[in-house]
Amino acid sequence: MGGGSSELRENEVAVELPEPDDARLRFIGRIRTPWQTREECPRQGSPDGPECRVELSEPWGAALAGLDDYESIELLYWLDRGRRDLVLQNPGRDGRIFGTFALRSPVRPNPIGTSLVRLVRVEGSTLIVRGLDCLDGTPLIDIKPDRCAFVPKAPKKP
Ligand code: SAM
Repeated sequence: MGGGSSELRENEVAVELPEPDDARLRFIGRIRTPWQTREECPRQGSPDGPECRVELSEPWGAALAGLDDYESIELLYWLDRGRRDLVLQNPGRDGRIFGTFALRSPVRPNPIGTSLVRLVRVEGSTLIVRGLDCLDGTPLIDIKPDRCAFVPKAPKKP
């Protein structure tokens, strides 16, 4: 799928890497958004952004039980359409160089993206959310309730 340029920008540094091995990750669905190219996509999602669909593959729909108690959830996804070999990057194309781990750029050795999104509703095994910033078809890795909303129950006393 298209959507990204892999050309090096001024002063960027790439390293030689073996072919990526993603075999240990299990994608659990796909994210459907209005954006087909990186240029159209917001850099970070906004709670006022458009409704996007998080479509789980079977058998993971059953794993959503209880999630609709949360207004805010965290999504982890695989930014599958960028290069992975840069140690230094020029994100603004303005000559300012940053180390990959000083950025939230999609260009990284293990391209995991995270967003705290607003859960609008659940439709079967699909979540409708606002606040995403990924390309249409981005693979989904995980879903977690917002950590601030999680209050562990005290263990029962005998
Ligand atoms: N919110 C996430 C985070 O902070 O980890 C991702 C932030 S990253 C700056 C968002 C940008 O990644 C988008 O503006 C787009 O340029 C790019 N992007 C989105 N989906 C992608 C995909 N599937 N593959 C590669 N790049 C993607």
